[in-house]
Amino acid sequence: MTTAARRYHITTFGCQMNKADSERMSGILESMGFEWSESPDDANLVLYNTCTIRDNAEQKVYSYLGRQARRKHEQPDLTLIVAGCVAQQEGESLLRRVPELDLVMGPQHANRLQDLLEQVFNGSQVVATEPIHIVEDITKPRRDSDVTAWVNVIYGCNERCTYCVVPNVRGVEQSRSPQAIRTEMEELAQQGFKEVTLLGQNIDAYGRDLPGTTPEGRHLHTLTDLLYFVHDIPGIERLRFATSHPRYFTERLIRACAELPKVCEHFHVPFQSGDNDILKAMSRGYTHERYRRIIDLIRSYMPDASISADAIVGFPGETDAQFEKTLKLVEDIGFDQVNTAAYSPRPGTPAALWDNQLSEEVKRDRLQQLNHLVSVQASERSQRYLGRVEEVLVEAQNTKDPTQVMGRTRGNRLTFFPGSIDDLKGQVVSVKITEIRAFSLTGTPLIPALR
Ligand code: SF4
Repeated sequence: MTTAARRYHITTFGCQMNKADSERMSGILESMGFEWSESPDDANLVLYNTCTIRDNAEQKVYSYLGRQARRKHEQPDLTLIVAGCVAQQEGESLLRRVPELDLVMGPQHANRLQDLLEQVFNGSQVVATEPIHIVEDITKPRRDSDVTAWVNVIYGCNERCTYCVVPNVRGVEQSRSPQAIRTEMEELAQQGFKEVTLLGQNIDAYGRDLPGTTPEGRHLHTLTDLLYFVHDIPGIERLRFATSHPRYFTERLIRACAELPKVCEHFHVPFQSGDNDILKAMSRGYTHERYRRIIDLIRSYMPDASISADAIVGFPGETDAQFEKTLKLVEDIGFDQVNTAAYSPRPGTPAALWDNQLSEEVKRDRLQQLNHLVSVQASERSQRYLGRVEEVLVEAQNTKDPTQVMGRTRGNRLTFFPGSIDDLKGQVVSVKITEIRAFSLTGTPLIPALR
């Protein structure tokens, strides 16, 4: 069947891995002749890339899907797809719940979208959720930004955190080869991208599954080695990576970040809880003391590094005293940003079956307390920027004020300043910070711009 002039829409829920997968699937659809449609209601192909981490995201998918399923009754050539973690978890039962669906595909199958669609266009209803070996990406993702890009370096996760569905839905760790990653980044540089974030669910695991060890028995390919390997790509001016795991974080990596000028001084290291018994129940494999040592070590090399994290409150069995230890950790560290969540049981995870679940009220109350502390601290951390000159990589126009552009500092603070996006997009500009807020800054550019 011909797909010329057909229009597609993707709505993405959840994490950066999902966003990266959506970009990849957009790339595939565009190479098949589909054009982007801002509204799902004007599209012939609608894809929901889903997330099971939060209940409300899952509920939203079902309500969006219901609307499109009704539309399909009037427009039978509408192709309806659910991808991502809900698809992986629910599999065929999704088809029973929404029989109008054409394709249900787990996250490991994102690169196979074209194959799967061909089966759909030949009249099949397709479920692709079985584990597969991920073939090297040969697709060209459509990028949401044309300045910053995500590059997957490792898929899957071998950890077994007791609250997390990722190992079930994304399978075992599979690292891409350093050369494949470098080639993708070189292409991005040629297309004009300036910043790359290397992505993995547990990025410190990068390379464990690749062959080769050093004479001392260390893996030949680690995240640290990868940073050295891709650091000299001309045109790529900034490098970031996420998500780090405190269990595997090494001093060697910190040293590399301090040494390599393109690696930004921003570390996203989730702690999840400040209490050792809760960390044990989560199977995280570290103590809060180790976590604190890592942050101290980062700060001993890079005193101004910005530190962000993820935290969960209301994990099964968490007492008031244990929750207080999370608050204490946050108070002691002084984070630039913390993504917080109230624990919510996910099907197929061990902690969901435990009988010491906390009430929604307790979880809500703890979340509010933590969020309050996080924003007070973020404001305090913003103070240090006032009057300073920061390098801002310009990404886009400020959507709320077209006389301004927006970008990020090396520490990942969103920054606004007067200027024209046509002149400044993709440039690193020195900006004197004149106004601070908890999570963003405003400033005045110093001309000439630094490159
Ligand atoms: S490290 Fe833990 S929380 Fe992160 S993806 Fe793996 S299992 Fe999930």
